[in-house]
Amino acid sequence: MEREESISKLDEIHLINEIKNLKSVLWINPNRKPIPNQEQFSFQQMHEANERLNRLSSYIKVAFPETEKLKGIIESPLKEIPQMKKLIEGRRGFKIPGRLILKCDHSLPISGSIKARGGIYEVLKFAETIAMEHGLLTIEDNYAKLADESCKKLFSEYQIAVGSTGNLGLSIGIISAKLGFQVTVHMSHDAKAWKKQLLRDKGVTVIEYESDYSKAVEQGRKQAQQNPKCHFVDDENSVDLFAGYSVATLRLEKQLQDQDILVDANHPLFVYIPCGVGGAPGGIAFGLKMIFGENVHIFFGEPLQSPCMLLGLMTGLHDGISVNDIGLNNKTEADGLAVGRASKFVGKIMEPVLSGCYTVDDSFLFRSLKGMYEQENIFMEPSAHAGVFGPIQLISEGKQYLEENGLTSKMENATHLIWSTGGDMVPFEERKIYLEKNV
Ligand SMILES: *Cc1c(COP(=O)(O)O)cnc(C)c1O
Repeated sequence: MEREESISKLDEIHLINEIKNLKSVLWINPNRKPIPNQEQFSFQQMHEANERLNRLSSYIKVAFPETEKLKGIIESPLKEIPQMKKLIEGRRGFKIPGRLILKCDHSLPISGSIKARGGIYEVLKFAETIAMEHGLLTIEDNYAKLADESCKKLFSEYQIAVGSTGNLGLSIGIISAKLGFQVTVHMSHDAKAWKKQLLRDKGVTVIEYESDYSKAVEQGRKQAQQNPKCHFVDDENSVDLFAGYSVATLRLEKQLQDQDILVDANHPLFVYIPCGVGGAPGGIAFGLKMIFGENVHIFFGEPLQSPCMLLGLMTGLHDGISVNDIGLNNKTEADGLAVGRASKFVGKIMEPVLSGCYTVDDSFLFRSLKGMYEQENIFMEPSAHAGVFGPIQLISEGKQYLEENGLTSKMENATHLIWSTGGDMVPFEERKIYLEKNV
């Protein structure tokens, strides 16, 4: 009853009509706090995940030789993108004050998307736990042991399952198959055919659904519950996934220092991240806020048809409202963001953390995809370009936010960080189709 009442009262919220009419909006979060108090997740948990990944690096290095140069740490570079900045400014007819940099998670090793951090972390943590329970591993060991036949044999008795729009499935499927688990990926109808094929080629069981992401997750969860030897990677509620994602920020802090990029009261950092169910951007936003406090300003970008986190936060209903409830259809070319109902676990943590959310037109994603490729020779998949719209939307619609936070005079010192989220796994023929799309 309460939920129906809240939904029917929605029309009183001014922004809701613009969202319904598929306008690009910028929503500012009234509940942001300079330094939030967190109960659901802690700084400590983020550091524990970082330490565990350091232990696991000796396994990762052996299992995925492409990570050897990085010593088994799954990390991506930070790059200035001056040509893209020029292109945007030329197209828009206004300047983006400050510098524009790209966090290149489209090139993360192993699975070529932001999901490589969280997904691989959760499965490896599960593997570590059962190997220890069975006396095959201790904390002092070289974790390369996880690649031994004895461990593989043990893991083959267990199942891993996950529901996904695509990239989480890739990440979980690849690492689970490598360790020797039986793995099932429940894919929503948005998932691209090549992602399903790639997984099947690796021996992963792929179950396809006619329905959207939420249904695929629900079905996956249900099937997993019937098997005590099945570990379900719960994209909507997993603390481990969240922890794995958050670790990126400890490394980013160091990358910023190495590149002499200051973040302080006079040098604000703006971060723009594409958001689906919320886990990946949420983990990152949490870590950023813990590290940079009130000097970081974080915005999530979502497709016009799938603004689930915006809706959940704006109404306070979190997973109690879906984009269908306001007449949207959750159909978007940004397959990684095609989520109609946000995670409540993440939404709650985001309440004091986020500066806001914005929505972006699919046609922008393809213009940006082509521009980024031509100007910077960087290929990012459509979903990842939701981040690129962030600085444009902030500068054109966010004047009040900048003024109220005393930022207007500091913008020349600002750093705008676009968090790229996927692209390296996209096959050549698919890239061609994206690049040739008429928009
Ligand atoms: C999954 C994904 C996101 C968003 O992450 P969520 O955890 O679903 O919010 C963004 N971009 C890409 C390319 C993704 O695969």
